[in-house]
Amino acid sequence: MTMIGDDLQQVKNRIANACVTVGRDPAGVRLLAVSKTFGPEAVREAHAAGQQAFGENYVQEGLDKIEALADLRSSLEWHCIGPLQSNKTRPVAEHFDWVHSIDRLKIAERLSAQRPAHLPPLFVCLQVNVDGGANKSGVTPGEALELARAVAALPKLKLRGLMAIPEPAPDFASQRDLFLRARAVFDAIRDAGIELDTLSLGMSADLEAAIGAGSTMVRVGTAIFGGRARKPA
Ligand SMILES: *Cc1c(COP(=O)(O)O)cnc(C)c1O
Repeated sequence: MTMIGDDLQQVKNRIANACVTVGRDPAGVRLLAVSKTFGPEAVREAHAAGQQAFGENYVQEGLDKIEALADLRSSLEWHCIGPLQSNKTRPVAEHFDWVHSIDRLKIAERLSAQRPAHLPPLFVCLQVNVDGGANKSGVTPGEALELARAVAALPKLKLRGLMAIPEPAPDFASQRDLFLRARAVFDAIRDAGIELDTLSLGMSADLEAAIGAGSTMVRVGTAIFGGRARKPA
């Protein structure tokens, strides 16, 4: 097996073990492979090892990769997971399958209006800022329900759930507590009658704590593709 294939398998083992520990079915946790900074060949290799869902942070880099891998398009799922500016929404609406980082209505409205008619709705998650930490992206927990209602009403979007990126915490329990804040917002929105099925929580360093808090999708880069040499523009 290739190195990326081996690393993918190890991440799947980590997910399975974390699920066993908390009594969850591993089938309830999807793996999103975060390929930012890595070239199309790395994605091709992961795809050959069975991976279909890939996450990109930077719109232009993602578009270049989607184009380079056009031959695999029907068996790949592309997720935009980075902050999205309003002048970049059109190519995202046209080429991606998911957006995890919706934090204001204006962006959602543009994505819905710009989603081509022949494509299925764009799947979206609201990004929630659970700790007010250095990473200031995301709607506050208090504003999340109102935004969820408005986004759920947009015709060419399908609201799937929430995403959060809490600051690193010193230990497992405090990391899980931060993730549980996102889980509480998720539960409150569902209790209000809005259907959600995706809680996008957890990365290479903290996916076990995220699974302990109810994550249904972990976004893993480093543990699959290796360390990122550069911070992309
Ligand atoms: C880079 C990134 C990841 C993956 O992080 P790793 O620590 O490399 O697993 C996940 N989610 C988002 C939003 C990211 O920007």
